[in-house]
Amino acid sequence: MKKFLLQCKNIPTEPILRFLEKLDGEWANHYFRDDKDVHNAMPPAVSDKLVLAKMRVLIRKGYVDGCDCGCRGDFVITEKGKEYLKKLVNTKYNLAKEEEG
Ligand SMILES: [Zn+2]
Repeated sequence: MKKFLLQCKNIPTEPILRFLEKLDGEWANHYFRDDKDVHNAMPPAVSDKLVLAKMRVLIRKGYVDGCDCGCRGDFVITEKGKEYLKKLVNTKYNLAKEEEG
């Protein structure tokens, strides 16, 4: 059996963006272990290194603004990130309507 490895793609993007959206422009970090730490929005098994890797992916996609060098991070959601969340809600709504028939 192949060992399950937790990778960036296994960490859901939505809760992270929702978390940043809720902070409403206040800087999030990735190691203070306070209520602005993005760890709060990820599965508990995720390593610190992977947390940063995930944030790097979100920054590269343009959903998040901030720094992934290992410093505090100062992560905030971008307009593109907010759009992503809006689209997600619409998609879920449409799927639910389809199921209803
Ligand atoms: Zn930095």
